[in-house]
Amino acid sequence: MCGIVAGAGRGDLLPFLLHGLDVLEYRGYDSAGAALFTDNGIRTVKTAGHVRALRAKAENTPHFSGRVGIAHTRWATHGAPCDENAHPHTSEHGLYTVVHNGILENYRELRDMLCAKGVSFRSDTDTEVFADLLEMLDTGDALQTIRLACGKLRGSFAFCVLYSDAPDAVYCAKRGSPLLISHTADGTFAASDRLALPTDGAVCRMRDDEFAVCTADGVRFSDADGNELYKASETSAEADTQADKAGFDTYMEKEMYEQPTAVARTLCETVCLPKTKPERVYLIGCGSAYHTACAAAYLWEDAMGVPCIPMLASEFRYRNVALGSRSLVVLISQSGETADTLAALREAKKRGARVLSIVNVVGSTIANESDDVIYTWAGPEIAVATTKAYSTQLTIIYLFALYAAKLMGKIEDSEYQAIIEAIRKLPDQVGKILEMKDEIKELASRYAFLEHAYFIGRNLDYAVALEASLKLKAISYLHSEAYAA
Ligand code: GLU
Repeated sequence: MCGIVAGAGRGDLLPFLLHGLDVLEYRGYDSAGAALFTDNGIRTVKTAGHVRALRAKAENTPHFSGRVGIAHTRWATHGAPCDENAHPHTSEHGLYTVVHNGILENYRELRDMLCAKGVSFRSDTDTEVFADLLEMLDTGDALQTIRLACGKLRGSFAFCVLYSDAPDAVYCAKRGSPLLISHTADGTFAASDRLALPTDGAVCRMRDDEFAVCTADGVRFSDADGNELYKASETSAEADTQADKAGFDTYMEKEMYEQPTAVARTLCETVCLPKTKPERVYLIGCGSAYHTACAAAYLWEDAMGVPCIPMLASEFRYRNVALGSRSLVVLISQSGETADTLAALREAKKRGARVLSIVNVVGSTIANESDDVIYTWAGPEIAVATTKAYSTQLTIIYLFALYAAKLMGKIEDSEYQAIIEAIRKLPDQVGKILEMKDEIKELASRYAFLEHAYFIGRNLDYAVALEASLKLKAISYLHSEAYAA
């Protein structure tokens, strides 16, 4: 997961690109870079390290300005985080310059093929292979060439590409990784997250195997066969949300304090239940979403009386799970773009299962491809370690369990009403816990210098222990494990 921001504007684009990278830095932060069409052709500035290092370098590079450009903040998958591997990558003879989010699974075959033709590489990345593939296939028509080259790729990508003979355009292609486009009076912009896009334009979400050509005057979309597409713009409840820390020191703390509101909003969501009782339920997610799935398995099995099996998305997709038309597959994802979860969704659909997703981003790919969707209303979550998205996911799985238990006659009406009453108090109660900040700080200072932490719980508490342990480990780098009591 990394950040891409690009655009074809009417004024100097560098400030927009740097601001976009600042906003996206949470998605990847080992190196960053930008390329602009300057008065002397395409120029690239890139560096290992944070976006602020790139800002210093870019602002000190004479004549590094232009109206059309691409930028990237990297989370390395192929090659160390160093200057040479930072994006953008340019083809050997300078025809194509590329930023990429994703993983090209057949990059080694392509690299060998290009090497055999005499191409020499300057980085270890899979991305550079794509730049050189474009140059090798170049037909003189950049869009056609990009379409041709993407046809030869396996894996996931969102690309923004500059073509040296087309100084007014940014070319975009997508499969598996997110890419959004927005057109405003100031130009046309692309980014992997809407937070990096201007706030005054409607946003179009590219779908897999779609292509776009962005110029200051507008955008043209086409499909893999070259047919022009007319895509509807979307606006969502998040459109007006700005990524700022609102006075908190970190995004994570800010997002923890947003939990009462996020939970309250999520409690208003309409929770759809399957029309017929499924034979079995698979609950799929990655990381914290998998831990939500573990909690859901305990609750839903109890509420519905059918086997509920939590599974990591990566395990589900590579295992021959016994699925049928009476299986329900439930996918949980904050972004709605998680690569393994999306692959699990497609596998489940191919095999005839009904798919219900629980996601936080309206219009995301997982939401779009599922049979049914339940939204969590956490709003944008910037911190890498999830807080409010996890609590809103739990809110949804509890609501689902409650409605299912009522529908299946497992609880009396009076008990149902009592639980509803209790659930309504949840946002206030979450707020009360957050008010205990000083006591929590004091406890943390007692334990922060220990070397190992073990979270022990049984049943639902074991599911919570899994998440608690992951959170401590991810944030503090302390060794931490969860144990079933
Ligand atoms: N696979 C590419 C690389 O390692 C892109 C990684 C990313 O998405 O940041 O450079």
